[in-house]
Amino acid sequence: MPRIAYVDGAFTPHRDACVGIEDRGLQFADSVYEVWGVRNGRLMDSPGHLDRLFRSLGELRIAFPVTREALMIALEELRRRNRIRNGLLYLQVTRGVAPRDHGFPVQATPTVIATAKHIPQHKADARAKAGVSVVTAPDIRWGRCDIKTTGLTANILAKQHAREQGAFEVWMLDADGYVTEGSSSNAWIVASGGVLVTRPVTDNILAGVTRAAILRIASELGLTVEERAFTPQEAMDAKEAFMTSASSFVMPVISIDGAQISAGRPGETSVALRQGYEKLALNA
Ligand code: PMP
Repeated sequence: MPRIAYVDGAFTPHRDACVGIEDRGLQFADSVYEVWGVRNGRLMDSPGHLDRLFRSLGELRIAFPVTREALMIALEELRRRNRIRNGLLYLQVTRGVAPRDHGFPVQATPTVIATAKHIPQHKADARAKAGVSVVTAPDIRWGRCDIKTTGLTANILAKQHAREQGAFEVWMLDADGYVTEGSSSNAWIVASGGVLVTRPVTDNILAGVTRAAILRIASELGLTVEERAFTPQEAMDAKEAFMTSASSFVMPVISIDGAQISAGRPGETSVALRQGYEKLALNA
């Protein structure tokens, strides 16, 4: 079965899907995106993803005339046509096609593309059961990481660095040596006293939709949360560490820069939060 993409209102096999050569998404990364996790045939955390999408569009002043409802109908149809029960749904909205010029075009019609991808659940579960490694690298991104743009050069270089070190994710460090976030995930630790620590949302990290869900679950579980920055050393000394994202949910981290955490096994809080999130997926 060929994979089906959504391009400007039409469903089309990937091989036939195309956008204009002067699309500003291609030319300038003048575009925003969202990624939904799909579990048991459901798009997870849709209100959070839609809120963030429209916020990102607003920050870039991309006029997007599509309603949340219409968008969700298209995305759900894309999921259905690709028969995705577990996986990801990718949506990108660019400012549109216009003769190449750094300044915005007066009038451009946003380009909307979406794709869907199957992820074998047993693979994701096995990875979470084993835990993953992270390495650190300087955060060289721009000052508006709160906007989910496709300008991801720094993120992809950092992620590639992690891969080449045999790690699953990179935790990026600000100029003062504190962890900002992962290349495509938020970073957390369970500090020695059992307190859950994650960096507060400002303009130097993305407000993860999964992060928000985990904060809610943590409060339901009666966990104490401190929203503050932490260093790699604090993470190495922590009881547990984990990362969150729509694609990996809650992913236990078992080593940082080669230093083992929680005896090299996923910690109980990470596991409880992952279970809590999966429960949400069933009730979504
Ligand atoms: N930070 C960055 C830089 C990301 O790309 C992502 C993935 N979208 C996240 C955090 C996690 O966000 P979410 O939980 O909404 O997937």
